[in-house]
Amino acid sequence: MKIIMLGAPGAGKGTQAKKIAAKYGIPHISTGDIFRANIKNNTELGQKAKTYMDKGELVPDELVVDLIMDRFKEADCANGYVLDGFPRTIPQAEALDKALKAQGEAVDFAINVEVPDENIINRMSGRRACVGCGATYHIEFNPTKVEGVCDACGEKLILRDDDKPETVKNRLSVYHEQTQPLIDYYAKADVLAEVDGTQDMEKVFSDIVNVLGA
Ligand code: ADP
Ligand code: AMP
Repeated sequence: MKIIMLGAPGAGKGTQAKKIAAKYGIPHISTGDIFRANIKNNTELGQKAKTYMDKGELVPDELVVDLIMDRFKEADCANGYVLDGFPRTIPQAEALDKALKAQGEAVDFAINVEVPDENIINRMSGRRACVGCGATYHIEFNPTKVEGVCDACGEKLILRDDDKPETVKNRLSVYHEQTQPLIDYYAKADVLAEVDGTQDMEKVFSDIVNVLGA
């Protein structure tokens, strides 16, 4: 099963993608997580990506497409994947379609997690990410047992630099300009499903399971 998560930054794509991955036994692939791991390890790719990410802009298509095509070659992708944060532009979606078509395959579901802009700033300013395992929490909606400490691995939690309100505003306008057109793109391909992302996390997930099948 090949699933794409669509939605504004902070809509809950990562939260839901992790649950989908666990239930359906497919890998959760987040291009944002891959870039952050590269930044942490100070790779050349990480250094390049950081200049764009810090400003809330998109990393150039060529870099992202090469990265994801390499990731698809790994053995765990044999039965599909859930993509979180890719594609983010029409050229990225076209590159994905082309690569899949060459193997006689196609995207099965594009799930749009809908959350209005007015809820996003609150979601992002309360998001906390673990520096160790990448788990994400929310100080109000999904708090850890001990404040500032990851439940899963015990490492400390941080507010991502690009989750600060000034950057979030730019990320939202980049989203509307470059990523939102993908909703129409996947509607035309007849694989779009819309879910109300303002509901609590478990309800959002059960709506997604209704779309994907138990
Ligand atoms: P995205 O991957 O789309 O950027 P995340 O999954 O990281 O978004 O979610 C953004 C923030 O909102 C996180 O702090 C997460 O814990 C929280 N969150 C996710 N889904 C919900 C929800 N349904 N209700 C309230 N908060 C949520
Ligand atoms: P995310 O973790 O998905 O919110 O992504 C964080 C940042 O990484 C984005 O604001 C972009 O700068 C960059 N990024 C992640 N995925 C992509 C992508 N598919 N295309 C371009 N930039 C991306």
